[in-house]
Amino acid sequence: MTTSPSQKILCVLYPDPVGGYPPKYARDGIPTLSQYPDGQSLPTPKGLGFTPGQLVGSVSGGLGLRQFLEGQGHRFVVTSDKDGPDSVFEKELPDADIVISQPFWPGYLTAERIAKAPKLKMAITAGIGSDHVDLQAAIENNITVCEVTFSNSISVVEHAIMQILALVRDFVPQYQWVVNGGWNIADAVSRSYDLEGMDVGVVGSGRIGFGVLKRLKPFDVKLHYNDRYRLPTEVEEELGLTFHETVDSLVSACDVVSIHCPLHPETEHMFNDELIAKMRRGSYIVNTARGKICDREAIARALESGHLAGYAGDVWFPQPAPLDHPWRTMPNHAMTPHTSGSSLAGQHRYAAGVREILECWFEGRPIRNEYLITQGGALAGAGAHSYSEGDATGGSEEAARFTA
Ligand code: NDP
Repeated sequence: MTTSPSQKILCVLYPDPVGGYPPKYARDGIPTLSQYPDGQSLPTPKGLGFTPGQLVGSVSGGLGLRQFLEGQGHRFVVTSDKDGPDSVFEKELPDADIVISQPFWPGYLTAERIAKAPKLKMAITAGIGSDHVDLQAAIENNITVCEVTFSNSISVVEHAIMQILALVRDFVPQYQWVVNGGWNIADAVSRSYDLEGMDVGVVGSGRIGFGVLKRLKPFDVKLHYNDRYRLPTEVEEELGLTFHETVDSLVSACDVVSIHCPLHPETEHMFNDELIAKMRRGSYIVNTARGKICDREAIARALESGHLAGYAGDVWFPQPAPLDHPWRTMPNHAMTPHTSGSSLAGQHRYAAGVREILECWFEGRPIRNEYLITQGGALAGAGAHSYSEGDATGGSEEAARFTA
């Protein structure tokens, strides 16, 4: 039973499949895990509201929260219409108590929007990465921002490994030869290399970056990393890691760079013309962290000139990316829409984590420290460790230019 008065929860989720909801599932379930790799416990809500393996990240799925919330007398509004002044999100925001949004289809909470939402007390990220919220404005307005730390980190690790291999082996054009009815091996292999022996580095050796390093070790590559904090010596020795104090040092020593730090003022546009110029000719960048960590025009230019051999990832800025976003058409890319953290297994964990957070909030219990980004007018928990104060939402209004 709830002890809190009725609240309005406004939830922004991506649209349902064009083929209808629910989709026809490829498998009958997902594996059961016992804990995260570092021993952190999985989300522990009292109930779930859906069967693990179901699509709950789209509007009709509603993160499996509808019955739970409405059963306690709360109002639950779910929409995918999130951009522009006439959007459902903007119209429903003024009396919302809680906003839930996924990074894949972010309901940007800019300072202007926060100013229009005087009742807003909490912004929950269904996933990881709360850069779609103006954290400075959240701090100044005493809004709790939290995310479901670790929920989809390994989902992203797997996607990053896939995209590193897709770029280096040059998978996408080879697949295209098959689909187009060809068998032209000479064309297909002209840009295909082995990863073995290459220098591969990660920026940010947190949950995802470290998972990538661990999985790359058996590929017999030389591993590098850069982070604000150094990993323990025994870990560096076990994986054979070279630590770089600066990202400049890392990129000049690598053939492949995979980006895994959060987007915050310190990392915004970190990969600009200047940094890219320090990379070896023919380097590859994989970015599954946030699109805005890279200067989009600089990436496109470096692919056009051939300085970069390839770019892949699943994160863009803004999201959804307008049709004329240069990353849709630049050469030698292997981009996906923002999907890596929203596998059906990832959805299960972040939806369960959102439910846990809501249960804690309504019952007046503390939210896990590792879920907190801001609280009580300051960075808190995971946010205090990995983010910096400030705002990274600038330019997000451009998302309104997207048309399907
Ligand atoms: P973690 O917090 O575990 O790791 C982030 C790491 O980045 C930390 O080690 C942090 O350092 C480091 N870092 C922060 N600032 C810098 C910097 N300026 N230079 C170098 N390293 C830095 O988070 P995760 O690994 O779980 O996730 C990382 C990011 O991946 C998320 O913030 C999110 O943006 C993105 N993500 C993308 C998803 C997708 O679907 N594509 C899904 C999930 C996450 P320290 O803490 O030591 O200060």
